[in-house]
Amino acid sequence: MAHNEIPYKIYLTESEMPTYWYNLRADMKNKPAPLLNPGTHQPMTAAELSGVFCDELVQQELDNDTREYPVPQEILDFYKMYRPSPLVRAYCLEKKLGTPAKIYYKFEGNNTSGSHKLNSAIAQAYYAKKQGLKGVTTETGAGQWGTALSMACAYFELDCKVYMVKVSYEQKPFRREVMRVYGASVTPSPSMTTQVGQKILAEHPGTTGSLGCAISEAVEVAVSNPGYRYVLGSVLNQVLLHQSVIGMETKIAMDKYGIKPDTIIGCAGGGSNLGGLIAPFMGEKLRGEADYDFIAVEPASCPSFTRGVYAYDFCDTGMVCPLAKMYTLGSDFIPAPNHAGGLRYHGMSPILSQLYDDKLMRAVSVPQTKVFEAAETFARTEGILPAPESSHAICAAIDEALKCKETGEEKTILFGLTGTGYFDLVAYEKFHDGKMDDYIPTDDELAAFRARLPKI
Ligand SMILES: *Cc1c(COP(=O)(O)O)cnc(C)c1O
Repeated sequence: MAHNEIPYKIYLTESEMPTYWYNLRADMKNKPAPLLNPGTHQPMTAAELSGVFCDELVQQELDNDTREYPVPQEILDFYKMYRPSPLVRAYCLEKKLGTPAKIYYKFEGNNTSGSHKLNSAIAQAYYAKKQGLKGVTTETGAGQWGTALSMACAYFELDCKVYMVKVSYEQKPFRREVMRVYGASVTPSPSMTTQVGQKILAEHPGTTGSLGCAISEAVEVAVSNPGYRYVLGSVLNQVLLHQSVIGMETKIAMDKYGIKPDTIIGCAGGGSNLGGLIAPFMGEKLRGEADYDFIAVEPASCPSFTRGVYAYDFCDTGMVCPLAKMYTLGSDFIPAPNHAGGLRYHGMSPILSQLYDDKLMRAVSVPQTKVFEAAETFARTEGILPAPESSHAICAAIDEALKCKETGEEKTILFGLTGTGYFDLVAYEKFHDGKMDDYIPTDDELAAFRARLPKI
């Protein structure tokens, strides 16, 4: 198809939206390793998991075989409030870079929560409601997940208790307020409201908290309050399943216009947007039907894939969650205080970890000032103010496009633009004021965290 026949934005109609989620695990020869009970080191059973998670989500979590999950009508209805999301041909960015590459991005920031996280939040809230629960608990770092879950819980009239990493709670009061608009209660973590919070505060007075610590608190509240379950916004197999809607829509839109990407790029925090974006394409690769170059992009200050180890580790600091086999830096790893770009989780999705270990995808890490430079180039050319997390993917896409400029290759590059950066202006401010540095942990520092991995 001729260059100018591809529109700037491809929007599917509502009737073209995918009606099922694709479970990538069904096509993986080497399945992701099972979650283990932290006490016995035996695989977690459905019965054990159902104390923490909703029943249907437990079933999805453990199901390595069912290829397609029909999206329930109630969730499809909600998706239609903000989906399908546009697939954009970045003509302006291509021109600015002077590259022969064709660049596309799937934009997931077009909803109030400002990111792709709503795709799984609404699914998890739906199953909680269906089970007749009173509410759910969760953690949030920067606030996108907490906001998405608040919106989803408001829709299904569920109570929503959010434990927000203290440093974000203090630095991002507006995020907190958005969550309260949607009816959530927001507690800074660590807090005195849980035993694990009290313990962490006693050991580390004045700590500004971490995701791992907020997870421990949210899990404790869920298991000690009848009618509550815990929900998690990334990492888990079920979350990648829900996020497959991103890749499915992208694939339908690309097929419609006869576009085949060569390179598919996503930022990787816990791996949910990347896992969702690549799902149907990786499925083709696993089945030997097509080949793609998949790239995970992570911060150089939190390099789970590129400098972590593939091992069983705790998902949280309090060590109450199941153990997951994943690329990890160690559960008490916290990025340097100057790290501003998000994607700060110590571990990675077990599905993506297995794919990476099987060399079916690669990973790169990027320093944060380069990420913010890419973010600005993007904002000034394509108009959207990107989230710092998403800008990791932008940065790698620009690098790939500039390589094409050198070689003259006309590659088609697809990346996930996961969200907008309106609540990240403190980070942009640091960048503009020259107060951002590119601290990268040393090998010795990483070794010290690694030495505390559980021995399985
Ligand atoms: C949470 C978030 C991410 C990272 O999470 P993944 O699970 O790795 O996708 C990326 N971008 C935005 C905008 C986010 O809110």
